[in-house]
Amino acid sequence: MLQMKRTKIIDVLKGELVGQTICVKGWVRTRRGNKAVSFIALNDGSTIHNLQIVADNERFSSELMSTISTGASLCVVGQLVSSQGAGQSVEIQAERIEVLGTADPESYPLQKKGHSLEFLREIAHLRPRTNTFGAIYRIRHQMSIAIHTYFHERGFVYFHAPIITGSDCEGAGQMFQVTTLPLEKPPLCEDGGLDYAQDFFARPTALTVSGQLEGEMAAMALGAIYTFGPTFRAENSNTPRHLAEFWMIEPEVAFIEIEENMDLAEDFIKHCVQWALDYCADDIKFLSEHFDKELIDRLNFVLEKPFKRLTYTECIEILEAAVAKGRKFEFPIYWGADMSSEHERYLVEEHFCTPVIVTDYPKEIKSFYMKLNEDGKTVRGMDVLFPKIGEIIGGSERESDYDKLRQRAEEMGVPDKDIWWYMDSRRYGTAPHAGFGLGFERLLLFVTGMTNIRDVIPFPRTPRNAEF
Ligand code: ATP
Ligand code: MN
Repeated sequence: MLQMKRTKIIDVLKGELVGQTICVKGWVRTRRGNKAVSFIALNDGSTIHNLQIVADNERFSSELMSTISTGASLCVVGQLVSSQGAGQSVEIQAERIEVLGTADPESYPLQKKGHSLEFLREIAHLRPRTNTFGAIYRIRHQMSIAIHTYFHERGFVYFHAPIITGSDCEGAGQMFQVTTLPLEKPPLCEDGGLDYAQDFFARPTALTVSGQLEGEMAAMALGAIYTFGPTFRAENSNTPRHLAEFWMIEPEVAFIEIEENMDLAEDFIKHCVQWALDYCADDIKFLSEHFDKELIDRLNFVLEKPFKRLTYTECIEILEAAVAKGRKFEFPIYWGADMSSEHERYLVEEHFCTPVIVTDYPKEIKSFYMKLNEDGKTVRGMDVLFPKIGEIIGGSERESDYDKLRQRAEEMGVPDKDIWWYMDSRRYGTAPHAGFGLGFERLLLFVTGMTNIRDVIPFPRTPRNAEF
């Protein structure tokens, strides 16, 4: 029986095999019926939809039938027939059933439908078996393919930045240190500090917070690159939009300035949203029906409208005017302050009612590598702000002038010993270039309509939580 070739349920449901005897394998979602006949809903992960298995009870031993419960895995052979029942177009008349693995109803935690997302997080190892997480992980896959397709078709080189990094100039204070030194009794220098000479890399190292600096080196040779990999931030912020381990997509392009960088960001993100609508329709429909009735409208809305582009200074004026009219915010807002997500969402959801790209931030609140404007006060950074999410992309035109970059690094306290190699790109054949980082899980929040970032990555890592 196991020798017979398995047909995936997504293909079975196309209906073209009606009349044929086929073999399917999957996990029992529900089982109902009466004395004479059992109806088993089988799901194999290839689609959100289940296949109905119809089993005449007298054909099978009661011993076998008693082991077919929610969560059990089955191999079923039978004829595919058109279904008389409502809710499905085809079903299998079971001729042979093998239980590959039972799932004890006493202990299997996914008995009933409608578990809370909080509960499912505690069983992240089993939640892929729910409709919701099956849909989310299939969408996650499709969005990865969307991203690779977008850049590949446009001649970008997929570049692999290191995950263990020796430069901590970007995220000082929020990096996860990597060491093989014994924590109980580490070797010390004479001054009492750790003796990193004895560490694995003979220097302090950490998990990367961004592949950008290395990505720039590649863009300044290959022309256009993108990275797509895990990044790590030890920021102790327990929010629905922050993970300690998340995936980031970072394109970097030589010979473009900030305008083209904004065009790229907008076109790229629209491509991703369109892809979701084109290739994840069933899963998005399910999520929309169960979690967020406005999801599909919101996706279409982003596709239709050009993103509103304005400067940070203009944003502050709008926010200050709102405050003057009585709008309350938790955090104070004034020129020089970093906008928090309540401010960003006010601009996107209440003021403009479209995605927004904010440029020209005060240099003090942005990184040392952003190109300084002629006013000497602002830098050519750009953040893309989205409804429900706030910041989804952060990027900039990079400072390509050696002397200006040197000075900015000094002002921001970035030691030369950490970025000597980065400075070399401005010493030899420097050129204008720009890029940005898209948080993959923030994109997934938008596309799935989920509201907690812990629900769009298989095994979330957050403060005080690294189970599984
Ligand atoms: P935020 O202000 O939201 O904390 P950031 O300004 O620190 O973000 P960047 O350094 O600009 O973020 O990173 C680029 C992108 O990576 C962000 O626009 C966001 O989409 C994503 N991102 C940043 N931090 C996280 C995180 N902790 N978890 C998930 N995604 C993140
Ligand atoms: Mn940012």
